[in-house]
Amino acid sequence: MLKNFSFPSWTSPVRIRSPALTTRGPPRAGPASASRVADRPVLRVAAVEPSSLASELGIEPGAELLAINGQALEDFLDLEFLAADETFLLHVRTPAGEEIEYDVERPEGLPLGIALEAPKILRCANRCDFCFVDGNPEGARKPLFIRDDDYRLSFRHGNFATLTNLRPKDVDRIIEYRLSPLYVSVHATDPEVRRRLLRNRKAPAVLEQMAMFAAHGIRFHTQIVLVPGVNDGAVLERSLGDLFAMGEIVLTAAVVPVALTSYSKLDLVRVLTPAEAAAAVDTVERWSARAREERGMGWVYGSDELYLEAGRPLPPAEAYDGFPQAENGVGAVRQLQQRIAEAREGLADLRGRRALVCTGRGMARLMPQVLETVASATGARLECVVLENTFFGPSVTTAGLLPGAAFLEALRGRDGYDLALLPAEAVSDAGVFIDDLPFADLQAAAPMPVRLSYDFVDALGAGRAA
Ligand code: SF4
Repeated sequence: MLKNFSFPSWTSPVRIRSPALTTRGPPRAGPASASRVADRPVLRVAAVEPSSLASELGIEPGAELLAINGQALEDFLDLEFLAADETFLLHVRTPAGEEIEYDVERPEGLPLGIALEAPKILRCANRCDFCFVDGNPEGARKPLFIRDDDYRLSFRHGNFATLTNLRPKDVDRIIEYRLSPLYVSVHATDPEVRRRLLRNRKAPAVLEQMAMFAAHGIRFHTQIVLVPGVNDGAVLERSLGDLFAMGEIVLTAAVVPVALTSYSKLDLVRVLTPAEAAAAVDTVERWSARAREERGMGWVYGSDELYLEAGRPLPPAEAYDGFPQAENGVGAVRQLQQRIAEAREGLADLRGRRALVCTGRGMARLMPQVLETVASATGARLECVVLENTFFGPSVTTAGLLPGAAFLEALRGRDGYDLALLPAEAVSDAGVFIDDLPFADLQAAAPMPVRLSYDFVDALGAGRAA
């Protein structure tokens, strides 16, 4: 009663009533069989791409993906890896509760076309003094209160994870699915210093953990969040030395200054002084020079914030070797300048137009360099508006954490402008700022058209003239 489904085909799949799997003999060996597990996480379809294999099969939003080849699906990793073969049996429960098993054959590379509902995030086992969650004021968006530490998101999205909450089955999955590279918050290679930073007595020795995974082909991007008096100075020196000694296993290392807000545990942790930041830059640059000589790449990079706090000029774009950690604020400014320069020909002619560019204090000193590039490419008259973070407090200078209310306040009463650009990172996928103000509401209330932008190029392309 199984339906063979070769893509493309317009025949309807045969619907098989549960228990479908029992018609195929014993379940395949694996973590669990779909027919045996009652309390497994639900893998629900959020959306189906048109003209995809999933839409061809008739899978609808709301359907539950139960198993592939008899192996129960726990999360998006199982789906991605088990559905990677050209042929597989996919067991689905429709929104109406009907169970169907599809015998799927598909050409190599054809995407399944399924977007899943957000997975249940793995929670953190640490209690860092500098945790951003403690730094949230009341009223911040709920997701900001989640202490996530999820190796799956580390692999999929480059989120940094500490690997201190791995269960044996997580270790097995990392190895089995060869989740590489992983992004790891090392902070310090000395196990005791790291345990103190993470406030976790049980945190495993990170170098041993990485070496174990490396034996199975896993590689790492690493970061060190620098806490003055704890993991800077000699500890930083040792950490970089240890990571460098691991060779090609550690692809890159980033050194980032600790970021705190008025709500953080300021009795326990403080920000770097300019002299401490400058000392860290010196350490980074010394290791970077050695790496460049021995390996042909800088390998370790200071974040833009570290250079800002040190009062040092940013390294040139070439120093970032293709910006492997730009998402982590490492070389983000240079990458932005490079993108604008490369897209120059495709930008709109905005001569005679006035535009406001809103940003946080972190970019205040660097933004004029960026705007010069934009103004010379478009002809627009650009004015930078530097906002203080009224939500987290003035110590939070990142543009992406500015609340909607601060933007609105800054735009109100400013007449005669053709456009305002806001940092796109400040708005969630659901279209709301960190203080829950919808971007659409801000647009409606502002006295000029407002656009979100990641890199100016997206908002000022020729087809988007103000
Ligand atoms: S690892 Fe530390 S900073 Fe990250 S969520 Fe856990 S407690 Fe917070």
